[in-house]
Amino acid sequence: MKKIAILGSTGSIGTQTLDVVRLNADIQVLGISAGNNIRKLEEQVREFSPKLAAVWDKEQAKTLRTRIADTNTKVVSGMGGMMELAAMADTELLVTAIVGMIGILPTIEAIRQGKDIALANKETLVTAGHIIIPLAKKHHVQILPVDSEHSAIFQCLGGEERKAVEKLLITASGGPFRGKTVKELEEVTVEDALKHPNWSMGHKITIDSATLVNKGLEVMEARWLFDVDLEHIQVVVQPESIIHSMVEFKDGAVMAQLGTPDMKLPIQYALYYPGRRYLAGERLDFRSLAQITFEEPDMETFKGLKMALDAARVGDSMPTVFNAANERAVSKFLNHEISFLDIYSVIEGAMRQHKVVKNPNIEQILETEAGTYDWIESRWHI
Ligand code: NDP
Repeated sequence: MKKIAILGSTGSIGTQTLDVVRLNADIQVLGISAGNNIRKLEEQVREFSPKLAAVWDKEQAKTLRTRIADTNTKVVSGMGGMMELAAMADTELLVTAIVGMIGILPTIEAIRQGKDIALANKETLVTAGHIIIPLAKKHHVQILPVDSEHSAIFQCLGGEERKAVEKLLITASGGPFRGKTVKELEEVTVEDALKHPNWSMGHKITIDSATLVNKGLEVMEARWLFDVDLEHIQVVVQPESIIHSMVEFKDGAVMAQLGTPDMKLPIQYALYYPGRRYLAGERLDFRSLAQITFEEPDMETFKGLKMALDAARVGDSMPTVFNAANERAVSKFLNHEISFLDIYSVIEGAMRQHKVVKNPNIEQILETEAGTYDWIESRWHI
């Protein structure tokens, strides 16, 4: 039995990880966690009997403790609880399915304890990749990508020499607003933005897909995961989401990974790497597949990608500001406090006022995050 823990087990990636566990009878889930959704967490405790359940919200943790008093699962709370989950004695691998920078400290703790990481939580690498990647090397820990684009690149790179890579081609669906003008974007609602054409995901990443911020975060994630500089990473819009990403090699050969849009595939690949398992589901039928189309991303209208590339080029603490400003702006948009286009204004303003901190350590990254939130609250308080 492979023993794992899941940070963020109640979300989109977390529940699909548990689907994969259910489909294969040889993974034991020792730890699960949620922000505050204790109803779902209770269901998961009763089905998977983990040793530990971590809840961010302390009051909800108390309620859960009472509700599952008849089980052997220990309930812990807050950051201390998530750190305990990350460091559990018997686990081999931590799935980081939590959303946002809150995943940084538990991910680092798991690496220090020698756990492999199945990484969905891209915000962690975007802001602290310069710390996490060397730390993982030091502790001989594998970082296995769960994001479908990075899993695709990881699969294309299998057995190839890194020095033979010319560039990474990250595909993008273009999101629900592809083809719209800035004028049209002034009118879009939260409900419109949540309708992703191909993928069903958590709210934050769905909005990030609509602004193209997600693609920018993915470029930064790829840079750390595959040690490739920004000039050798290209974004290509492929609206049908059939090609999940590609690698071009020095000899001109291009390798691509294709499939139907189902996150269970990259999740299962990360859990069993380097093996492959049967996975039920739809298959691509090339006889009926009419076409696969490609476009340049529209970075003038969807400024999220352009701003991410600017932040990545500056480097140091700037990707943290970009990411933190986006996290806060998306939360305000989801709460109907700001408009869709205001998301870009919040990020732009936060980046403009920031004084870059060179080679930030974890404390400085968290201070930069807090400083960005304070600046946004002082300017965008509604
Ligand atoms: P969801 O919003 O669906 O789930 C997030 C999870 O994190 C939930 O379990 C949530 O708990 C938990 N959580 C949220 N806030 C806190 C907190 N303060 N403390 C502790 N736990 C918290 O997100 P997704 O599954 O969509 O995304 C997770 C990560 O994976 C993101 O980084 C995303 O970018 C990445 N990703 C997602 C993909 C997808 O298809 N969904 C694809 C590729 C990458 P609760 O339920 O209680 O709120």
